Amino acid sequence: MSVHYSGIGMTSQRTRNRLIERLRAQGIQDEVALAAMNAVPRHIFVDEALASRAYDDVSLPIGHGQTISQPYIVARMIEILRNGMTLNRVLEIGSGCGYQAAVLAQVAKEVYSVERIHPLYQRAADYLSELQIKNVSLRYADGNIGIPEAAPFDGIIMAAAATHIPQPLLEQLAIGGRMVLPLGTQEQFLWLIERTEEGYCKTRLEAVRFVPLLLGKA
Ligand code: SAH
Repeated sequence: MSVHYSGIGMTSQRTRNRLIERLRAQGIQDEVALAAMNAVPRHIFVDEALASRAYDDVSLPIGHGQTISQPYIVARMIEILRNGMTLNRVLEIGSGCGYQAAVLAQVAKEVYSVERIHPLYQRAADYLSELQIKNVSLRYADGNIGIPEAAPFDGIIMAAAATHIPQPLLEQLAIGGRMVLPLGTQEQFLWLIERTEEGYCKTRLEAVRFVPLLLGKA
């Protein structure tokens, strides 16, 4: 495959710096999350025709009716997930083209990411290997089931909106672990789920807009 370093080329680091400043202005405070956003060239993950918009704070189409998430929401979810701590093993549901997985790879020791659309799974694998990111393990599967054999996870991030939290994901969250996910259909909110010895503590956060979590593999 060919990776489009050209076009944006040398200016990409400067453009990325501007994105980081915008994220800061929007309220992202976690320096580790910001450094991770700064380290990953987002233009690699979008079609060449859209590369000039790669550092705008917008979601962009990646084909198959799906999108690459808006940088703000990627940074925000990682900030909430980290909560100032070091992450060991993280599960992402909905790899898409692999952008958030690449950012997560900068802040967690091991990342597992599940995608139900095979061409996207393949594309994510190509981009991550091109960027020589080695601590992400991609799976072509239905994320509703999670990855029982790799559990427990100290962080779980869902990049697609569900109507309810899939039970297997609750079970695969470590005690002391945190899950961040969008819930809802027309109206969606980000939720934080914290697992304690006693059970699960659920907190509703800001309004968001995600593609739906679907069932089964495509
Ligand atoms: N993490 C991506 C966001 C991709 S959009 C990024 O960094 O930009 C959400 C993705 O979730 C889509 O690719 C969609 O196919 C996927 N998805 C939806 N339902 C799913 C499911 N049940 N299992 C796995 N992936 C799913």
